[in-house]
Amino acid sequence: MEYLPLFFDLKGQPVLLIGGGDIALRKGRLLTRAGARVRLVAPDIDLEVRELIEHSGGELIQAEYHPSHLSGVRLIVAATDNDEVNCRVHADAVAAGLPVNVVDNPPLCTFIFPAIVDRSPIVIGISSAGKAPVLARNLRAKLETLIPPSYAQLGDLVGRFRGQVKAKFDSVNKRRNFWERVLSGSVAERVFAGQTQAAEQLLQQQIEAADTDHQVGEVYLVGAGPGDPELLTFKALRLMQQADVVLYDALVSPEVLDLCRRDADLIYVGKQRDNHAVPQQGINALLVEHAQAGKRVVRLKGGDPFIFGRGGEELQQLKASGVPFQVVPGITAASACSTYAGIPLTHRDYSQSVKFITGQLKNRTTDLDFAELVGSNQTLVFYMGLHTIDKLSSGLIKAGKSPDTPVAIVSRGTRRDQQVLTGRLDQIAELQSRAQLPAPALIIVGEVVDLHDSLAWFGDTQPLSPISDNPSS
Ligand code: SAH
Repeated sequence: MEYLPLFFDLKGQPVLLIGGGDIALRKGRLLTRAGARVRLVAPDIDLEVRELIEHSGGELIQAEYHPSHLSGVRLIVAATDNDEVNCRVHADAVAAGLPVNVVDNPPLCTFIFPAIVDRSPIVIGISSAGKAPVLARNLRAKLETLIPPSYAQLGDLVGRFRGQVKAKFDSVNKRRNFWERVLSGSVAERVFAGQTQAAEQLLQQQIEAADTDHQVGEVYLVGAGPGDPELLTFKALRLMQQADVVLYDALVSPEVLDLCRRDADLIYVGKQRDNHAVPQQGINALLVEHAQAGKRVVRLKGGDPFIFGRGGEELQQLKASGVPFQVVPGITAASACSTYAGIPLTHRDYSQSVKFITGQLKNRTTDLDFAELVGSNQTLVFYMGLHTIDKLSSGLIKAGKSPDTPVAIVSRGTRRDQQVLTGRLDQIAELQSRAQLPAPALIIVGEVVDLHDSLAWFGDTQPLSPISDNPSS
């Protein structure tokens, strides 16, 4: 970080501004908005500049700059086009130990002005360390569109009630939880809808009710997608950044986990095939326990929580315990892996439907109704099927699926080490036993797999091993 962003309280403070033209006007406006008492020095002073300084109770000195003008000021801004004056101002300021900014001349600055998004009391400053001001301004334009102007009213409201809330809640955690609820709940929504008074009444009620109200936290069941963090939803990211506690699975990638709030407690409850770090009942109990302690708990699951994720079971337990929850869908492995492997799950010419199937049933063997899966023009996607791939392929063939049906295994889909293995239904188990692609992996069965050769776009698109008609040759 080349500069430390700090917010300077200039209310009533004397600031020296040197220059009487357009640039001085812009800086003068900014300084007076922050309540500074501007001492403006220039031999020629534009009318607008003059009016600004007079109306804001500043001091006008129509003269050439002289070091005596520095006396008593807290901050100095040189906004002249005279290099010699700028250099002198800089040297004098440094000698006096005063912060100085020479507009558009970073080497002569001890502080710089950021691009500003003003939703006072909320203020955002963006700096490019003087290297790319246009980039900083572009960013500012983006933020202006993202942050509704009523954030200003919301900030004021919070400011007005801050003391009352502080007196009400004795711990930082409780206060933070209270404000998080207020700011992401109906109070904030009313402010955004322009109903400031209604928002204020509601907030007052919520503070009063807080005594009687046992502060139960909340659980967010969040789908983290298949691994690539860019596939998270905005909502997932927002809740991850609010979490006090995160319970996460083996399928959640480290890159995704990295995006959780820095000081959240991260608890691994992952399941690998035969090794449940924490059994399901234990997970359910942990969720309830943390929420009842007033925490905001994110239960982070690979893919989508409602697709082979046991999300439903966890919610039933929360419901029974009276813990409020929200669910955020995620991109499920079938959708993500097929896309990243260049295999459209449906296609007008090859497949009119798609089935998501578990390759591993409760008793650890597959007892699928294969007859139901052999129809043409459909795509089958097997989750958790890597270890039963021989049973799956032979079961399908026995039930009448053509041995020629194209199959793909997508291993660690969407991650940097994604691999795709393709072959025919009657050879895929053998190919995998040789290739040993690692879990997690998804198996896609159907004509659409043939499109992989031409549509693959992500990662290393070379085939892993040549696919021959005779796997043993
Ligand atoms: N809820 C998850 C699925 C959990 S079941 C979802 O919606 O995606 C676990 C199985 O998902 C794994 O055995 C594997 O078949 C599949 N899977 C999850 N992430 C994967 C990935 N990145 N690449 C390939 N398969 C994945």
